[in-house]
Order: sequence, then C-alpha cells, then structure tokens
Amino acid sequence: MKANLNLGSVFGIEIKIHWTFFFLILWIVFSELKRGGNTASILFNVALVFAVFVCVILHELGHALMAKRFKIDTKKITLLPIGGMASLERIPESPKQELLVTLAGPLVNVIIALLLYFAIPVQELMHLNFTETFEILSSFTLQNFLFYLYIVNIALVVFNLIPAFPMDGGRILRALLAIRMNRIKATQIASTIGQFIAILFLLVGLLYNPFLIFIALIVFLGAYGENQMVHHLELLKGHTVKESSITNITTFNPKDTLSKAIKAVITSTENNFVIIENNAVKGLLFYQDIMEHAKNENTLIGDVMTTTFKAVDSNDDLKKVYQLIHGQKNSFFPVLENDKLIGVIDAVNLNEFIVFQSKLVQ
Ligand SMILES: [Zn+2]
Repeated sequence: MKANLNLGSVFGIEIKIHWTFFFLILWIVFSELKRGGNTASILFNVALVFAVFVCVILHELGHALMAKRFKIDTKKITLLPIGGMASLERIPESPKQELLVTLAGPLVNVIIALLLYFAIPVQELMHLNFTETFEILSSFTLQNFLFYLYIVNIALVVFNLIPAFPMDGGRILRALLAIRMNRIKATQIASTIGQFIAILFLLVGLLYNPFLIFIALIVFLGAYGENQMVHHLELLKGHTVKESSITNITTFNPKDTLSKAIKAVITSTENNFVIIENNAVKGLLFYQDIMEHAKNENTLIGDVMTTTFKAVDSNDDLKKVYQLIHGQKNSFFPVLENDKLIGVIDAVNLNEFIVFQSKLVQ
C-alpha cells in the first residue's frame, strides 16, 4: 500500500498526505455522531480540519521557501495526523540559517493569526461573558469557523515552539546554542532538554490526557534521532565518496535481457545495477523492478530501468550522500570520476563506513 496520497506540487515541492490522516477524519465524524451531532456539525468540523491542514502546509512552505533562499531544495511536504513535515534536502549547518529557516514556519502561523484577528471581531468576543461567548461559538457560522482557525494558529505557534525535537522549538534551541558552542554539543544539550520535556509530557499525560503520552513518545524518538544524525554527520566529516564506494560491480547494457540481471542477483550479493552504454550511465536497475518483471526474462533491461536518478562524484563529501539517502526512496547511487563510472554507493556500505569510523574514534 502506498503510504502517501499525492496532492500536487507548489513551487516544485510535492505535497503529500499520509493515509493515516483519513483515520483522523473518520474519528472526527464518529465522535461527532457519538455526541449527537448533525450533518452541519460534522461538515463544520471536517472543514475545520482541512483548513487547519492548509495552515500546516503554509507553515511547512514557510520553512521550505526560507530554505530556498539558502539554496536548499525541498523535495516534499508530508501531512501526518500529528502535523506536517518538510523534507529539506539538507539542514543548514550555519546556526543563523537554521534559526531563520526554523522561525519561518511558526511565523507563517503568526501572520495567519494576525490576519484572522483583524478579519473577525475577536475583541468583541473577548468582551462577552462566558455563557454569551459559549452560545455564539456553538453555532456553525463562518465567523466561528474563522475564530476557531485563529485559536488553532495560535496553538500551532505555541506547540511548535516547545523546545524539543522534532518540534521547531528544538531546532531553535539548538541553533541558539550552536552560536556559542559546536553543533554536536549544542545538539546533545537540546536533545537532553527535549527528553526531559518528553518525560514531563508523559507524567502529565498519564494523569490527564493519553494524547500527551503519544506526543511524549514522538519527542523522545525525535531527540534520539536528531542526536544520532548529527553524530553520524560528524563521523563522515572530511571523508569523500571514494572511500566508501563499491568498485567491484556488475554493469549491464540497456539491450541486455533481464535474464542476465536475474542470474547476477542469484549468484552474487548485488541487488541493484548500473546500466551503461558507450561509457555513459543510462539508468539504474533496481531489485524490485527485476522481481516485478522476472516472469518475462527476455524483457530488455532498457525497458524497465529507471532513467531519472542522481549520481555522485567520487570527490564529493560523504555527508552529501548521507543527506541524499535520508531524503530519497532509493538509496543507491552511481559514483562518477571525471564523468566516468567507477563504482556505486548505497545505504548499507555507507552505514558500514559509519560503524567503522565510530570504532576508530572510541
Ligand atoms: Zn515547523
């Protein structure tokens, strides 16, 4: 099953929605029905969820467009029931850039909240007493819809500024610390603070709201993941692609048949292959494509290979490959030297390199 539904693209960034998002919609419909809601109340709440998610997309676009100013591309924005995620090609390493890219997201929600504040008479609502406010807000009008959206945007700002990974606040904290110390130390401190906050969430969650337990888990894993990524990047610093490439590889011609590739899969440890013609890389043949067409082994490789791929240079930084692997579906890249194929690099051998390096520094 495909995990994400494609919604199209904005500024060349794909917008995807995770399938679990539809559980959220179902959950809203069911809980409205349980409360004795009618069609109007269900539509109002479902529309509100969609409007909130538009605000979340705009928030993520805030990050992506600021990153673009620093020449960092964003491949996609994914919407999950718990929020959005912009897959930046890489995280800016300069603390100042990271700070600006991170602040750009919540800033979008501040702007939306400000616009809504002036568009609807928020102050009028504030002057009423509790019962009057409650009465006005319980009807399904456009003004109420916008008022809830205003509250949600403020909540998004507050939630995102919690100083814990993977929330923006965690990155802001790290960037602020990194101005005064090195990035690894800054990440360690920010992760520790994040995990401490996760424990607070867990305790409050156990007492009052199970949803907080869920957030605690995400924050805990986020802190761990961020710490590990920065650690890996540091181990790869100063090393080139050449040091971690596999040079003893099998290649095929687009006119070869699939039977050759099947034989190579069975008789070697190679699963993915580079396809070359006249010394130039024409495409990549992935294991899943071989399996998919294995029934017709006379199929020409040229007909089933992937022709859109990224190649890396043997003198490139290994950090670059690490970041590519974390942002891609396929983690197998041809390695070129003076535009000629000299080998390949994939996630497995890059991980081996990282493990080996970590043994050296221990
Ligand atoms: Zn954000």
